[in-house]
Amino acid sequence: MNQTETDRAVLREVLRSFPRSGVPPTLDELRERLHLDSEKILAALGHLQASGFLRFDTKSARITEAYPYSSFPTRHKVTLADGREVYCMCAIDTFYVPFLNDSDVRIRSNCLHCETEVQLRVEGEEVSSVEPPDTVIWHSGAEYDCPNTNFFCNLDHLRAWRVRFPGERGQVCTVEDALARGRKAVEQTRTLIG
Ligand SMILES: [Zn+2]
Repeated sequence: MNQTETDRAVLREVLRSFPRSGVPPTLDELRERLHLDSEKILAALGHLQASGFLRFDTKSARITEAYPYSSFPTRHKVTLADGREVYCMCAIDTFYVPFLNDSDVRIRSNCLHCETEVQLRVEGEEVSSVEPPDTVIWHSGAEYDCPNTNFFCNLDHLRAWRVRFPGERGQVCTVEDALARGRKAVEQTRTLIG
């Protein structure tokens, strides 16, 4: 296996196992499952970090994030059809999960303005329910956009939040837009990792 194939195999395994256990695989787990030595895995993690697929903390020798998943609790929790739960980095990232796992999902988050719970279901690759029904997403245009890409229970609450943070760049996104982005992003990732 050359290094490019190793990079792909590592990313494939990280994305496969993360939602199954709720945490990213350890170096030992990657070594065992892929039958590769640490040096090759560390090189792959370095390449994948440089390409923006994941974050690897060299001090603790652990993967901390692998988009769309977070190893730490966030505002955005996704439950798969079989009950497994995983946290996502941002509101848009939650829409990657049904496509990455070929699973219906329930997404839970909170309005960033008023903390009202937001719940969505994606069934058969379509948004089948949204509560509150006027929920929208602010897709941040910041370079590191995840912290500011959030759900709002309606456009008024998004506008009220923007009045408080007038410098924030980005755009309003419907839940259908976000689902389309998730579908497209996962298609691109699949092209890459097979
Ligand atoms: Zn609200």
